[in-house]
Amino acid sequence: MKTLPPLSLYIHIPWCTQKCPFCDFNSCIKKKEIEEKKYINHLILDLKQDIHLTTNRTINTIFIGGGTPSLFNYKSINFLLQEIKKNVPIVPLAEISIEMNPSTATYQKFLNFQKIGINRFSIGVQTFNKKLLNILQRQDEQISIKEMKNIIISLKLNNINYDIMYGLPYQSIDDALSDLKKIISLKPQHISWYQLTIEPNTIFYVKKLNLPNTNTIWKMWKEGNKLLSKSGYKQYEISSYAQKGYFCQHNLNYWNFGDYIGIGCGAHGKLTQKNGNIIRIIKNKTTFDYTHGKYRNKLYMVPKKHQPLEYFMNILRIFKPTLKKKLAQYTCVTEHHIQPIIQKAITQGYLKETLYTWETTEKGKNFLNDLLELF
Ligand code: SF4
Repeated sequence: MKTLPPLSLYIHIPWCTQKCPFCDFNSCIKKKEIEEKKYINHLILDLKQDIHLTTNRTINTIFIGGGTPSLFNYKSINFLLQEIKKNVPIVPLAEISIEMNPSTATYQKFLNFQKIGINRFSIGVQTFNKKLLNILQRQDEQISIKEMKNIIISLKLNNINYDIMYGLPYQSIDDALSDLKKIISLKPQHISWYQLTIEPNTIFYVKKLNLPNTNTIWKMWKEGNKLLSKSGYKQYEISSYAQKGYFCQHNLNYWNFGDYIGIGCGAHGKLTQKNGNIIRIIKNKTTFDYTHGKYRNKLYMVPKKHQPLEYFMNILRIFKPTLKKKLAQYTCVTEHHIQPIIQKAITQGYLKETLYTWETTEKGKNFLNDLLELF
């Protein structure tokens, strides 16, 4: 192993004001006042337990996700960030993102988070359509487009992402495009536009839903993709579109098979060691275990034979050529080991290669699961 991958930090705050019926994230309803200070103290202890596995690397990006982390007071988040800085070096001007729910997105919240150094905001809008918001059981008062525009201008916010979904129950192609047009009118730097998938362990999974058929979904995607591209957004990953210079550095680190510390209930970490071993750490999901000091649920080494799949599962999501030499730098596997699989993927039209790079073809992007199955 010549190079250790770049390092990021993910922080999970699991509480929300409600549980959305499509959501399979580790989130729970905030029933009473959350003991923020207690949880933050546990996050710091959790971090300290993992630090020795980072081999003195510097953190490049921080992502505070959930749940709805913006439910926390900015003072608690500030205390956490200060404590992190005392324990691990962070690059100057690191990308620091926080997830916000449109019902908790107020001028004061943005201002306070901005003051403590958060420089990227990710807002989970999902849809603006009132009928669809009801189906998604998101009845909380949402910030209006006009209010959002005023906040963006007065605070000069210049790195915003909106999460928006398509393929919702009863959604027409026009509904989906109307949501996208509204988002585009806000001129965000980044848009995560993703298809609703019905996951087990969600309320939607056991409900009979009137979902758009495959043909309608395909048309939604084609029209939406055209609209985004015409409006200056480049698709750089399956669901990620951004203006030039605003790709999400934190997510890119995951997809480039970089390393990350994961702290908080249910967070995952991946930490490569100097001897080439890749360690994965999964934290306990329940707030009860976690706030009783039981942070780690599992720590294991990724077997060598699984490393190619893990590597390509990430790297092939990015829509740009990837350097072949990175495979040997970031895993224990060399190009020679996986050559027969690569040849198969090329023959089947999923992958193209040059002397130094591999890249997913259009066919590979549309049949990514089939491509990954080869590994
Ligand atoms: S607000 Fe977000 S994290 Fe919370 S339940 Fe809804 S989708 Fe999941």
